[in-house]
Amino acid sequence: MITWAAPTIPALPGTGPTVRLHDATTGTLVEAASGPVASLYVCGITPYDSTHMGHAATYLAFDVLHRAWLDQGLEVRAASNVTDVDDPLLERATATGVDWRALAADQAAQFADDMAALAVLPPDVYVAVSECVPRLAQAVEQLLAAGAAYRVPTPGVAGPGDVYADLAADPAFGSVARLDEATMAALSAERGGDPDRPGKRNRLDPLLWRRGRPGEPAWEAGSLGRGRPGWHIECAVIALDGLGLPIDVQGGGSDLLFPHHEMSCSHARLLTTGAPPARVHTHAGMVGLEGQKMSKSLGNLVLVGRLRASGVSPSAIRLAVLAHHYRTDWDWTDGGLAHAVERLDRWRAAAARPAGPSGDRVLAQVRAALAEDLDTPRALAALDDWAVGEGDDASAPALFAATADALLGVRW
Ligand code: ZN
Repeated sequence: MITWAAPTIPALPGTGPTVRLHDATTGTLVEAASGPVASLYVCGITPYDSTHMGHAATYLAFDVLHRAWLDQGLEVRAASNVTDVDDPLLERATATGVDWRALAADQAAQFADDMAALAVLPPDVYVAVSECVPRLAQAVEQLLAAGAAYRVPTPGVAGPGDVYADLAADPAFGSVARLDEATMAALSAERGGDPDRPGKRNRLDPLLWRRGRPGEPAWEAGSLGRGRPGWHIECAVIALDGLGLPIDVQGGGSDLLFPHHEMSCSHARLLTTGAPPARVHTHAGMVGLEGQKMSKSLGNLVLVGRLRASGVSPSAIRLAVLAHHYRTDWDWTDGGLAHAVERLDRWRAAAARPAGPSGDRVLAQVRAALAEDLDTPRALAALDDWAVGEGDDASAPALFAATADALLGVRW
């Protein structure tokens, strides 16, 4: 897919410290990159309600990582997928009487427009599932041939059945999220799995290939029969082909740790050498609205596009999001947005002064905060302190502005 235009990043003197991230598997802080080329895979959207604040918070968190890595002097390779063939998207298309392709294209374009406005660095590899179905089918056939997948008859559809991964073929299954059976079963049922489907060997076994039901999009795929791929195999293959394994950081929202990341890692291991596909798993928290869960069914999604249309500046949206540590669950509030708008005004006024407190010091403070698990609240506090401080460093206002822009994507 075509991405959006990359923002220009101002140069900063020197380089930042090594970035460490919280790894969901071990619960510890670990070095985010393993070498001079850092790789990042962030699970992409299902384009039917983009771009709500939960999406924005996730992509902004990993954008800050991307920026901190560049500041560290690393080359960054980033990849993302677009799940443009999936049950919720198809349900929405049916409910609204819109062709699923048109809905996906429209929402993917909205997402790209919002990401460009928010100055999010675009991924180098950006692939929609509809663009790589033959390759995904080949991966499913590989797993079948290896005895790591099996067929389950599809009611009402002639020919070969749906295909499920056989988790028993993967001795390392469970090593990513490290959850007990009961928790895995509950989360699987809640998050798109089908534990009660008759004919499965294990309740948790995830779908790899779904035969086309009447009215559903489907692709011809040789021995698999007409159908479409499951969700987890999509990310496994796009990461494998687009970045090579292992990747440094697998990212996404915290609701993706299980089953999605557990399953896509399992598929990737079985398609390759069996080694861990990602060194670090890091997740952004969930965003609610004024104390309520933000959801389509409640009709309370805060959309970036709507905020922009009402005149809110993208930098204020960034500040409203980055005021919260990325791993926490938090609520979007009108007060939080008002505070961000005020903060942006204060910073803008401070940056327009002829001189200020040491610019080198505030840059070092922001770098140190971000290197420690992307502590954006601490970075914002350092910039706040500079903005209210007095000093005679004439180069500081420009360095202050460049720091906010390069490391946090805040521009004015
Ligand atoms: Zn994914």
